[in-house]
Amino acid sequence: MSKVEDFLSVKEEQEIVDAIREAERNTSGEIRVHIEKTTTISHYNRALEVFRMLKMFNTSQQNAVLIYIAVEDHKFVVYGDKGIDEVVPENFWDSTKNIMQENFKKEAFKEGIIAGVLKAGEELKAHFPWNENDIDELPNEISRG
Ligand code: CA
Ligand code: CA
Repeated sequence: MSKVEDFLSVKEEQEIVDAIREAERNTSGEIRVHIEKTTTISHYNRALEVFRMLKMFNTSQQNAVLIYIAVEDHKFVVYGDKGIDEVVPENFWDSTKNIMQENFKKEAFKEGIIAGVLKAGEELKAHFPWNENDIDELPNEISRG
């Protein structure tokens, strides 16, 4: 697992994209995944930087969530926009983080990301249900550092 390119095959990447699409069928929230090797700044700050870089603040309900993963650092961050923070309880992302962590411990990386994406969608559903006027505001893609 030395290169980010080795981290996921094209097929695995497609499975994650499918999971994002599926998760967004439950919620108006927008989910994105960013994967990179490592970072020199704190993972939280880097997640915030990527969030800005991907223009994830530009959703009408400010309800985008970024799943940021630094592969070689064995770190990940789940970062939700302030529209989410305003309405959810503290530790809202714990269930998402826990399910990812459990999979990552078993080195089931793709499964961990998919489980995290689906869990985030499920959790967001209660606060930001999908409706028929929903717009896919952010592309359902994986970005790489
Ligand atoms: Ca949407
Ligand atoms: Ca989307």
